[in-house]
Amino acid sequence: MPADHAPSTDAASERESMEVDAVIVGAGPAGLSAACRLMQLAREKSRELSVVVLEKGSEVGAHILSGAVFEPRALEELFPDWRARGAPLQTEVARDRMFFFRGAEKAMEMPHWMVPKPMRNRGNYIISLGLLCRWLATQAEELGVEIFPGFPASEVLYHPDGRIRGVATGEMGRGADGARKASFEPGMELHARAVIFAEGCRGHLGKQLIAKFGLDEGREPQHYAIGIKELWRVDAAKHEPGLVVHGAGWPLAENGASGGSFLYHYGENLVSLGLITDLNYRNPHLSPFDEMQRLKHHPVFRQYLEGGERIAYGARAITKGGLRALPKMTLPNALLAGCDAGTLNFSKIKGSHTAMKSGMLAAESVFAMLANGDGALDGFEKSFRDSWLHAELRKSRNFGAALHKFGVWLGGAYNYLDQNWFGGRLPFALRDSRADHDAFLPAEKCAPIDYPKPDGKISFDKNSSVFLSATNHEEDQPAHLQLARPDDALAVNWARYAGPEARFCPAGVYEFVGGEGDDGAQPAFRINAQNCVHCKTCDIKDPGGNITWVSPEGGGGPNYAEM
Ligand SMILES: Cc1cc2nc3c(=O)[nH]c(=O)nc-3n(C[C@H](O)[C@H](O)[C@H](O)COP(=O)(O)OP(=O)(O)OC[C@H]3O[C@@H](n4cnc5c(N)ncnc54)[C@H](O)[C@@H]3O)c2cc1C
Repeated sequence: MPADHAPSTDAASERESMEVDAVIVGAGPAGLSAACRLMQLAREKSRELSVVVLEKGSEVGAHILSGAVFEPRALEELFPDWRARGAPLQTEVARDRMFFFRGAEKAMEMPHWMVPKPMRNRGNYIISLGLLCRWLATQAEELGVEIFPGFPASEVLYHPDGRIRGVATGEMGRGADGARKASFEPGMELHARAVIFAEGCRGHLGKQLIAKFGLDEGREPQHYAIGIKELWRVDAAKHEPGLVVHGAGWPLAENGASGGSFLYHYGENLVSLGLITDLNYRNPHLSPFDEMQRLKHHPVFRQYLEGGERIAYGARAITKGGLRALPKMTLPNALLAGCDAGTLNFSKIKGSHTAMKSGMLAAESVFAMLANGDGALDGFEKSFRDSWLHAELRKSRNFGAALHKFGVWLGGAYNYLDQNWFGGRLPFALRDSRADHDAFLPAEKCAPIDYPKPDGKISFDKNSSVFLSATNHEEDQPAHLQLARPDDALAVNWARYAGPEARFCPAGVYEFVGGEGDDGAQPAFRINAQNCVHCKTCDIKDPGGNITWVSPEGGGGPNYAEM
């Protein structure tokens, strides 16, 4: 191999390094709250700290996608004067409605008293989480944090004794064949006394760390969902600022799957809506994207969308296993925070305030460690156990498992009793031990699903949707979607499950071309990596865990304006 075709590990010796006190990977609610809290503590104690946040998106918020109904509890703690500082929380929840969809046209509204308490939203706000992160980034910078957008952390660095030493950012300017292009730049090493990994759901470094350090030993398998979201500008006459609508049942229930839908009115005639599909679904013919397109034709959704304009689209996985699936969050010299670990409260379908709180707790432990000279971060486990975050997750520990085990009706009844009557203290340990990537049944045992064609007004195809996510990747770069067993795509996935990656991916990244004729010819399998919106669903749902998502060149991916 010519010298300039050397694999990236050989380029490690060319990397420059930077020494800092703390590195935070990911500028989401968890990472940015951690950064702000660290600097606040440094100011309070008059200490100098160097804190760097790495973000793989082209700017802070570019990869953030959420509902979002936001519970301000953690924000109140972090910045009690958030109103005066201009935090973008403008629309307070005014009305909560919850529907059980019984079919494409039918819906039953649940009386308010029947809605599980965690799903009531009085005192919460409808926001764009992307905008909140941009605001948090400004606060962090004012406190002295350095934020580097467009720089993914692509490798964990270790001391010889196994402690975490820092992270390296990804290389730029390598071609798809591994060769260096004229634009080649080696990554950079950030050596830190402590690292907080806050990459969000299915962080690729977090996944490696959980496996390497056995952090999930004795825990339930983690569970996930894929959330597909659109942002619409609707007719002013139909806009009801502060309205929160949640739905369960159709369309997913029709195909034996579960999840829920949402529709929130906020801002200037904006409606944020989406479908969350639990990734334990069994029918490989199911397509979360097409389910979402169908959903919008339901009268409860359609009434607002007719005459409106779709202005944004995106998708992101959700970590939802809760306390029973939560891995140990402490590592030698490092911590996991937010959805990288799995702090989302599934009973509320909210993970932003919990991510923020976990980041703040992580910062407090890191600060104590730095103040005492380098030592262990074990204090984190205790402060986590003593926090409202732990109490909240404990209360809802059976919520997801009840729905998975007993279905929407019985599971919903269990959750109603547990949450509204017993305050989450029913003494049962419901378990859900089948991993999402093991859930598919063979395609021949499941009914094929004939999705209606999009009408181009309410429903759309994948290409025009991905276009709205402003996704962009340098095309000539090494594959960031890696197959452990390349032959499995055809030999297993196509043969047994009718190629489910073409359907579970909401961005048209995976394609089986040809192979539909009667001649028995196999299709060609294609990966259109440049379409990837970084939702991580393939890394989670591909049968046997064959696909690994690693970070592409910095700045690549979606460019969400305010998702
Ligand atoms: C459709 C949908 C609806 C939701 N609705 C709600 C809601 O209504 N209310 C609510 O509270 N929560 C909601 N959530 C959940 C909420 O969005 C998450 O729980 C929350 O965003 C988690 O915050 P985080 O900081 O842990 O991760 P993220 O918000 O995912 O942020 C992680 C950041 O790290 C960056 N990153 C990842 N890997 C790297 C790397 N290696 N190097 C550098 N940067 C990296 C990412 O680009 C991203 O900017 C919803 C989620 C979805 C998908």
